[in-house]
Amino acid sequence: PLSRAWNFSAGPAAIPEAVLKRAQSELLDWNGSGASVMELSHRGKPFMELAARAEADLRDLMSIPDGYRVLFLQGGATQHFAQIPMNLTPEGGSADYIVTGHWGEKAVREAAPYVTARVAGSSVDANYLQLPARESWDLDPGASYVHITTNETIHGVEMRDIPDVGDVPLVADMSSDILSAPVDVSRFGLIYAGAQKNIGPSGLVVMIVRDDLLKRPGRPMAKIFRYAEHAANDSMLNTPNTWGWYLAGLTFQWLKEQGGLAAMGERNRIKADTLYAAIDGSDGYYRAPIAHAARSRMNVPFTIHEPALDAVFVKESGDAGLLALKGHKALGGLRASLYNAVPLEAVEALTAFMRDFANRHC
Ligand code: PMP
Repeated sequence: PLSRAWNFSAGPAAIPEAVLKRAQSELLDWNGSGASVMELSHRGKPFMELAARAEADLRDLMSIPDGYRVLFLQGGATQHFAQIPMNLTPEGGSADYIVTGHWGEKAVREAAPYVTARVAGSSVDANYLQLPARESWDLDPGASYVHITTNETIHGVEMRDIPDVGDVPLVADMSSDILSAPVDVSRFGLIYAGAQKNIGPSGLVVMIVRDDLLKRPGRPMAKIFRYAEHAANDSMLNTPNTWGWYLAGLTFQWLKEQGGLAAMGERNRIKADTLYAAIDGSDGYYRAPIAHAARSRMNVPFTIHEPALDAVFVKESGDAGLLALKGHKALGGLRASLYNAVPLEAVEALTAFMRDFANRHC
């Protein structure tokens, strides 16, 4: 019997078991210090070394070029919806947003007090079932940046091709697909992600930002909001989330042991293909509504032909050790999130359960 359930949560989400076990084994006495990592100063040498190693491992994993800073921040991705325009746009400036789902909408709303947030492309009229064609985007060459959400966690829509937006810096919310496959960081001005899907626990935001964007004057604001200040202080302007940083570091080491992002990308492709094939091959019993080209590898929303069975599915799958398959309340239905820490075995357990469920509730 498994001691832990297969966890399909959208976030906070599964953390690699090896990472949790390592953290457990050194919880009371980290690094021979006689204290847990949570109980030590962030300014002490052992933690500073941990922090530097985590950054170096992330740089290595993502092949982050020189000329980019890596920041370990707080506030969740939501705070940065607001803080990004504060830092990147002058008073009275504008920025372009490509909206492909719930989180893009929210990014626009939170940015609006600080910038003219233009929706330059959107698939709202298609109910976010597909991506807005690049040709339909109405980009302003004078925009301070173009914001995209590479993976929409609720709608299950993923932008796999990095769009060409000319000389305007591309800013990407990668909260739910960072580290899921190799990505060409040099194509972006700024990448940010809440940690609680593919990095570690909530309460930590990882940001990768090109140096020139840190030199933008932004607008008058407290130091604590200014990314350049965080960069100048190696993300220790104030007390960072040390526990989150530690677990992120362990996850980066785990990812390197797994073969890095190319290997993860291949595993994630196989996992997603396995689940979509089970849905598409169910003769309409299950349905995945998203257009094939836009289907997310990380979050798979699906429905049952008879919506009254949703609750039964959630209950029975939970009893079978398959956790958190209930769809987001905005969409209903079901959703399986397949982040890095979810193994193929879990997806196979889910597809076997789905076949069995369909046989029992025809
Ligand atoms: N962006 C995306 C793509 C997300 O999935 C989420 C959280 N699910 C957020 C932003 C918001 O993150 P947070 O709750 O950390 O502010």
